[in-house]
Formats: sequence, C-alpha cells, structure tokens
Amino acid sequence: MRYEGTVYRPPSEAHSLLIQATIGCPHNRCTFCSLYKGVKFKVRPVEEIKEDLQMAHSFYGDWIRSIFFPDGNTIIMKTRDLVDIFTHARQLFPNLERITVYGSARFVNKKSQAELQELKASGLSRIHMGMESGDDEVLAKIRKGTTSSAIIEAGNKLKEAGVELSEYYLVGVGGLELSQQHAINSALTLNQIIPDFIRIRTYVPVPNSPLYEDYQNGEFQLLTPHQALRETRWLIENLDCPGSIVTSDHISNYCNVNGLLPRDQKYMLQGIEQALTLDESILRPGPITHL
Ligand code: SF4
Repeated sequence: MRYEGTVYRPPSEAHSLLIQATIGCPHNRCTFCSLYKGVKFKVRPVEEIKEDLQMAHSFYGDWIRSIFFPDGNTIIMKTRDLVDIFTHARQLFPNLERITVYGSARFVNKKSQAELQELKASGLSRIHMGMESGDDEVLAKIRKGTTSSAIIEAGNKLKEAGVELSEYYLVGVGGLELSQQHAINSALTLNQIIPDFIRIRTYVPVPNSPLYEDYQNGEFQLLTPHQALRETRWLIENLDCPGSIVTSDHISNYCNVNGLLPRDQKYMLQGIEQALTLDESILRPGPITHL
C-alpha cells in the first residue's frame, strides 16, 4: 500500500485497513483544523486505489473485516468510482463487514438520495461527519462551509439510505462567548437527525490554524476544563435522540461521557457532575497538547 502525507483516521477505525482514496481535504478552510494545511487536494486514480487493495489482500489475505478510505471527505468522489472501489473491496475480502469514509454535510448533500442508496448497496456502511456544531453562528465563525439545516438534511439522507452516521461535536470551538448556544443548538440539530453515534471531542488549539492564531492573540477564549464540562452538560441534557450512542472516544476530553440514549443520560450527567467536583489542576493539563 502506498501512502502520501500524514494519514488521519478516527479512533474507532483503529482496527481498519486504511487505503487512501483521496489526498487532503476539498474544503480545507475550517479555522480550527490543521490536518491538511498546505496539502493540495486530489482524488487518486481508481486503478491505483484498486492496486492498493490488491496489495493489502496479498499481505493480509481474507483477514480484513473493516476498511476506512481516508483522507478528508472521500465522499466527494464520483459515485460510480466509489461504487467501483467498494465493490472491488468486497470481492477481494469476503469477510469484509464495514466500509467507512469521512463526509461533511456539504459534500454528502451533493449526492442524490438514489446515489446514497447505490453507495449503501455497494458496501458503504458508515460516514464519519465532522458536524462540530449545530449552531449557525459557530458554524459561520469556524468556516465549516455548512449550516444546521444542511447538516440535518445530510444526516437524514444518510439515515434514509441506511448508512450509519457518526456525528462529531467539538466542545469549546465557539469559545466562551458562544458556549451555551453552541451546545444547545447542537443538541437541537442532533435531535432532528438521531445519528447512530454522537462522538465528543474537546477543542485544543493546534499550530498552523487560524483559530490557533486567534487564541495566541487573545482573540479567542479557550474554555477552562470546568467550562468545557459545563458545555458538555448543556449538550447532553438537551439531547433527545432515542437509540443514539454517545461516546467520548478521544484523548482531548476532560471526562468520559459514554452511553446509550435515553437509558444512560442520567448516568452521563452524573459523571459530568462528579468531574466538576474535581479541581481543574488534576484534569488534563495544558491547552496546546498536540493531538
Ligand atoms: S475539519 Fe474536516 S472539513 Fe474542515 S478542513 Fe479539516 S478535514 Fe477539512
């Protein structure tokens, strides 16, 4: 397999075969993100992707059960090309149970309902969607290139197509000023989707990104650990997503908030209350840990 640049994947894809289908991100404008800064976006030729799948098969045999196709927003590829590589992967790996890609609402919405259904039929199991926020003011500030209504539309299109959806919420990306509306409007947005997974990350300023510069200049107020926990509490207490799994599967978070909604909502809130009784000095130190 051939890789270009740094390959990023969600923690839940730790056991997946990674085959780059795209390089970089076609949006590449989010103010908090440094992942692909300076990387010119491109889609790899389908034949090259298939060759890499073949190489992986020569190495791993039938052992592969899950494949994630980085980089950012692979869903932007032409539907017929995605169908081609997913079909090829399923033919090569008879035990394949899961195929996943990253897909922002902006790019998912470029696909018709029929295309998403075709992708599902060819093997696409799950989309990792970096919602970050469901609040339009925060989304505009972080230059996510989408709105809450577009996020709801994309989420519901995926659900209708039978594709699982992981939505990512970024604690603190609205700063202190927008913290409460960021959490509450994100919960209200998620309530209109009811995604399979709600995955929580906490914003950490990362060099080589505009929001890091704002943070350094004192123009962006980073949440303290307790403020981040209070924002997470606003999110959780406003969620009405029966059947969604909430998970804090990331090192950036100050507290593990995990469970099934609504069954575990009370326990998640209790966990946050407990964390709020701890002195901030014993919670994750340092705002500029590189993730
Ligand atoms: S957060 Fe996602 S969509 Fe935004 S620039 Fe980074 S990779 Fe691209």
